Amino acid sequence: MTVRESGPPLTGEVDVVIVGAGFSGMYLLYRLRALGLRTIVFEAASDVGGTWYWNRYPGARCDVESMQYSYSFSPELQQEWHWQEIYAPQPEILRYAQHVAERFDLRRDIRFETRVERAQFERARCRWEITTDRGDRVMARYCVMATGCLSAARVPNFPGRERFRGPTYHTGHWPHEEVDFSGQRVGVLGTGSSAIQAIPVIAAAAAAVTVFQRTPNYSIPAHNRPMPAEYEAMWKARYPELRARAWETRNGIVYDLNNQSALEVDDETRRKIYEERWAAGGIPFMAAFNDLIVSQEANETAAAFVREKIRAIVHDPETAAKLTPTSYPIGTKRICVDSDYFATFNRPNVTLVDIREAPITAITETGVETKDAHYACDALVFATGFDAMTGALNAIAIENDKGESLREKWAAGPRTYLGLMAAGFPNLFMITGPGSPSVLSNMMVSIEQHVDWIVRCLADLRAQGAAGIEASAEAEDSWVAHVNEVAHKTLYPAANSWYMGANIPGKPRVFMPYIGGVGVYREICEKVAANGYEGFHMLAPVAAAAE
Ligand code: FAD
Ligand code: NAP
Repeated sequence: MTVRESGPPLTGEVDVVIVGAGFSGMYLLYRLRALGLRTIVFEAASDVGGTWYWNRYPGARCDVESMQYSYSFSPELQQEWHWQEIYAPQPEILRYAQHVAERFDLRRDIRFETRVERAQFERARCRWEITTDRGDRVMARYCVMATGCLSAARVPNFPGRERFRGPTYHTGHWPHEEVDFSGQRVGVLGTGSSAIQAIPVIAAAAAAVTVFQRTPNYSIPAHNRPMPAEYEAMWKARYPELRARAWETRNGIVYDLNNQSALEVDDETRRKIYEERWAAGGIPFMAAFNDLIVSQEANETAAAFVREKIRAIVHDPETAAKLTPTSYPIGTKRICVDSDYFATFNRPNVTLVDIREAPITAITETGVETKDAHYACDALVFATGFDAMTGALNAIAIENDKGESLREKWAAGPRTYLGLMAAGFPNLFMITGPGSPSVLSNMMVSIEQHVDWIVRCLADLRAQGAAGIEASAEAEDSWVAHVNEVAHKTLYPAANSWYMGANIPGKPRVFMPYIGGVGVYREICEKVAANGYEGFHMLAPVAAAAE
């Protein structure tokens, strides 16, 4: 673990400030150094890794295969690193992040345990002033928010939350020390991806687990296993070709998309295809047919298949019925990938409480009270998710020279051009920001694409002698309209998902990521850059701007 050395707060000027040292901030730092730009990174955690630093809950692992959920920028790195499992667990991904930091000597430019509180643009000097909770005050030509889409953990305001006498945990803020649940009665609140991974592992250790479920989730088995040597060798031999193929896909993952409609095959063929996908496991289940996310009728065939699987796995019909999702199309909330999630409810020490039927009325000193009963717990695990996509950005007071804040600008939902910049906020970039494919993709692919685009942009600005760049309001308007239009051609808006902001009371209901696809989006970004940064204005050199 890296601790920030005590010493005077940082002042002075750099070319770029990066906020966040997850996979986005780390790669960006590496690239900007190569460009010769003086760069400093501020990171709230005490080490690199972002998501994989914070989410240390039992069972945490990737739902994109390890051979693909990794950086592609260094041929040596991707050849030398050995992933031990098909889906890497959190400790292995964190070790990978730490290895990258060491290998490329990144930590020397990262100030850990330092939270950026404010970023204010000064147009006359064309600089961002960035201030932190450690008293740092740094000026930078450019500021890049690599703050993460799923980094603002959230505990709902259950009445009496602070009264609980036992330990409480959030999956996204898990302690560094091992948590021993043996002999304990553990309450788990939430049944999203994090809970679905954690519950089987906690249930194997604890005396009893009570799961409080508001909405049941569709989940596909991971069938995780040790990395087969020949599979790793195949990937390593074909990395250049396969990475390039991933860039052109819809979600940044190489797998077989069956380019047939679910409705054009007979029942027997359809079932056979679903059975094969279920047996192979993971996210590619949703690529069984090409219309699962656009046709309600096609989607229902996949949903019905998964519901049937749940009923077949879970012995108690009442519990199976509660675990069966019916209120939204499959895949319109992030599809979950599990290891023995549904079977865990066959264990005698696991109880499912449907809090839609009997809502939580209070957290008490000793447990959780619903409309119907009180459930005694020694520890509580909040697997209640994140203020996704906008939470970490809105937590920083980002202000332009007119005194407008990004938070106010986004009051009715985030507005960006390409998910990279927001009009009125020059020289401020976001990595995997709202309006880009981000969370709908293998994030490693989207992170590298954004970083590469930003680095090229900064190099071009330097070559042209420009002081910076700003998205135009017109380009932003038409991009926001396009993002909405494409989303509404799919079934996604039908679900109360965090993609829609629906998990946070009062958050605007807007579909935040861009669903046009990683390949299509990449092409648009390339074209914009090739056409002289279409939709952006270049800022005049500073002396002129200051007049
Ligand atoms: P993050 O990893 O979130 O890093 C952002 C960093 O910014 C954090 O370290 C945070 O501390 C720091 N930060 C934020 N605000 C401030 C501030 N004001 N000041 C200083 N520092 C700040 N994606 C996939 O593609 N496949 C997966 O299987 C997958 N699994 C996931 C599992 C979990 C449990 C979660 C939560 C997410 C998962 N994701 C997955 C998404 C994951 O977030 C990305 O894959 C990726 O790790 C994001 O990297 P990042 O650097 O953009 O953001
Ligand atoms: P999440 O998907 O938002 O799930 C949060 C859970 O808490 C949901 O079941 C939600 O119920 C429940 N909840 C929230 N507020 C509640 C309230 N007020 N009362 C009762 N229940 C409430 O969060 P997450 O599980 O942490 O996952 C977030 C994202 O991180 C995932 O979608 C995925 O992108 C990523 N992730 C990936 C993996 C992986 O497999 N690699 C693992 C973990 C996370 P509702 O559904 O009713 O809102």
